Amino acid sequence: MTDVHVRILVVEDEPQMQKFLRTSLAAEGYRVIEADNGRDGIDFARTHNPDLVLLDLGLPDIDGMDVTKALREWSNKPIIVISARGREDDKIRALDLGADDYLTKPFGTGELLARIRVAVRRAVHAGQERPDPELTVGELRVDLDKRRVFVADREIHLTPNEYRLFTVLMKNPGKVLTHRQLLKEVWGPAYATQTQYLRVYMVQLRHKLERDPARPRYLVTEPGVGYRLKAE
Ligand code: CA
Repeated sequence: MTDVHVRILVVEDEPQMQKFLRTSLAAEGYRVIEADNGRDGIDFARTHNPDLVLLDLGLPDIDGMDVTKALREWSNKPIIVISARGREDDKIRALDLGADDYLTKPFGTGELLARIRVAVRRAVHAGQERPDPELTVGELRVDLDKRRVFVADREIHLTPNEYRLFTVLMKNPGKVLTHRQLLKEVWGPAYATQTQYLRVYMVQLRHKLERDPARPRYLVTEPGVGYRLKAE
């Protein structure tokens, strides 16, 4: 069972999906708030202050993309998009608008719950007053004060750009980061479309940090979308 006080707002209009989500989340101890259209979704986010939002895109009134945009004007709570739209363009758009993650329907309970755990953990971590100077994901560790990187306690030397890219990923474990988001963070807004930079640097990082760079355990590709630092 998970933290009983975590409240999840589910914005979804299909009765079968509503039932699936309600049952899976309640069984795990989450409190569920439900909205079956976009406007109620936005309203309930304000009135109920949920810890996380599960958001369908195809809603009867306004599109889930617009709900994401509206929520991000004032809220930084995690948003996980759940949608039958599996196109790369849709994923990229939702993530660029500020969604934290994207699950394509149909998906299993296990994956849904894992993504929720990661998103909630990240949000709690991000809300801490004093940022932890050290970040750890599995065998990977970074000391942000001393700018030192370790794999299973072995120190690894990274170039400044490799280090910046790696720390952006380490600060967002489990979250899909689009090419655009990573390029803007590491190289600046003028480089937002230079995806070849990312490919080159990701190959280098995998060679330095992964046991088997061809089958990365941590630095995984989200095809056509971006990268994710796998947290579990
Ligand atoms: Ca729908």
